[in-house]
Amino acid sequence: MKQAVRQHKLLLTVTLLFSIITSAAGVLIALVLQKVIDAALQGDLGLFREILLLSLVYLLLLGVFGFIYSLSSKALIRNLTISLRERVFRGVFRQNAEAFSASNTADYLSALTNDIKLLEDHYIQPMLQVLQNIVVFAASLVVLLYLSPLVTAILVGCMVLMFAIPSLFGKALQTKQSAVSSQMSIFTSRLKDLLSGYEVIKSYAMGRYAEQTFKEENHRAANIRFAADRMFALNESVSHTLAILTQFAVVFIAAYLIITGNLSAGSLVALVQLSGGFVGPVLVIMENLPKIQGIKPVLERIDLLAEVNNEPITEGLTPVFNNSLEARNLQFKYTQGKPVIKDISLSLEKGKKYALVGPSGCGKSTLVKLLTGYYDSFDGIIELDGTDLKRLDREQLQQMVSTIHQNVYMFDSDIRHNICLHEEFPDEMLDRALQTSGIHKFLQHTPNGLLSPVGENGLQLSGGQRQRIAVARALIRNKPLLVLDEGTSAIDMQTAYEIESRLLKLEELTLITITHNMNEELLGLYDQIIYMEDGIIAEMGSLKELLERGDKFRSFYTLEKEEVPAAG
Ligand code: ADP
Repeated sequence: MKQAVRQHKLLLTVTLLFSIITSAAGVLIALVLQKVIDAALQGDLGLFREILLLSLVYLLLLGVFGFIYSLSSKALIRNLTISLRERVFRGVFRQNAEAFSASNTADYLSALTNDIKLLEDHYIQPMLQVLQNIVVFAASLVVLLYLSPLVTAILVGCMVLMFAIPSLFGKALQTKQSAVSSQMSIFTSRLKDLLSGYEVIKSYAMGRYAEQTFKEENHRAANIRFAADRMFALNESVSHTLAILTQFAVVFIAAYLIITGNLSAGSLVALVQLSGGFVGPVLVIMENLPKIQGIKPVLERIDLLAEVNNEPITEGLTPVFNNSLEARNLQFKYTQGKPVIKDISLSLEKGKKYALVGPSGCGKSTLVKLLTGYYDSFDGIIELDGTDLKRLDREQLQQMVSTIHQNVYMFDSDIRHNICLHEEFPDEMLDRALQTSGIHKFLQHTPNGLLSPVGENGLQLSGGQRQRIAVARALIRNKPLLVLDEGTSAIDMQTAYEIESRLLKLEELTLITITHNMNEELLGLYDQIIYMEDGIIAEMGSLKELLERGDKFRSFYTLEKEEVPAAG
């Protein structure tokens, strides 16, 4: 937040300056009233004309300054919310993979929408109002002292009482506001879950359950907000009653002073007017201070996200991959959990093809993620051509590896954009990628070819088509290391076979395929099969070697072969 404010220093200064000018000028109305009433009661026409003229000039200036203040404060709010959102978004993306996946994406959504709105309503706006009203208050105090020190003393007494109230509510409101923010985050998360699960909900006739869940969450979120609002209501009504009490006190004391001949009628009107200008600001400050205090937890949450910069250093050594990718005594576990990679030593040679196989959950994907620099907090050593992976420039390293996952994320755009991802490629490269990935086969049947939209997360395409786009996405970039993490599992067997055998023929490419497809012909084309079991490499060798000498892989292979692979 502080950085965002610092970024808009000039606009903030202009806003504060005009806030001070308009607020202070507003107080002068009381003096105008006093002078014009006293002039009227004395029958002084010359003075009356003079005051009238001055008042017109004053009004004009007040209007212009008021407009400038209003405009600059709105522009300030706009700029601050833009900056805050940008900072939070950048912070979210600058997190490393481990930190990012520690929170639900709905939390981030909520921070970027609900929390920023809360900050606008409960921090920025109240802060501006408080500042403005402090000025009105100070200016009124000066004029009041000039008019009647006695009335001023009474007003100050009442005011002390009024200031004591918000401190009683502050702490409780802070807890309540924090609860509102957390509940909104849960609400967004549930909503996202329900909307993303549309297909499951429909096909399992869970409509009622979804409605009921939504109803409960909706009520819970609204009620928690109402609990905070109840406290605001109490705070506001106590403040208002005290404010009216104060104004009553002023009128009665001033009237008494007139009766005893110590005050002019004009001064009475001015005092009443000023007591409004004195009490009003205190009221606004009292209403807003608990809001500002209460928003602290939300502010901290936003600041925490906005200041994240735990992405690995991007100024490391330039990665070179001419020989090997090696791991020695590699061990890894996720933040909360037992070791997933227990003790792995492995050497992958450039240009060779590796099939990584083993039962689900044995750590295949995790191993590949570690080898490609996705996670940082492992024990042991990983080296690319002899250089420690942790010393390499992370962005350049990412540019050397393509990974094709089982679930491919598709941006809501056309096929071409989903392959090229904001980059330009020569037509020949695109054509080659379309051929190797087998996209050309289904492209003939789409209405607009490469420009056909894929829908939200590729919903208009089949799983197999999405995977073929992912293959093309990876191939067009011509990266030296390709990881297929069950990357062709949804493609029909014939096309999957064609794609994989084409990839196996690319000499320069180092390929790591995580697969459950125990196709003998395909596995026979791999240089090495790495068979994993429970976080370790149990056996490694060519298909022939493993089938002849080992028994662990052989029994896995025999069992898996009996299962029919998925096709789509
Ligand atoms: P495989 O690819 O062999 O199926 P994974 O490497 O995906 O296995 O998972 C190995 C183990 O690590 C599993 O027990 C899984 O539950 C756990 N795991 C995988 N990803 C995460 C994660 N992001 N956070 C916590 N645990 C995970």
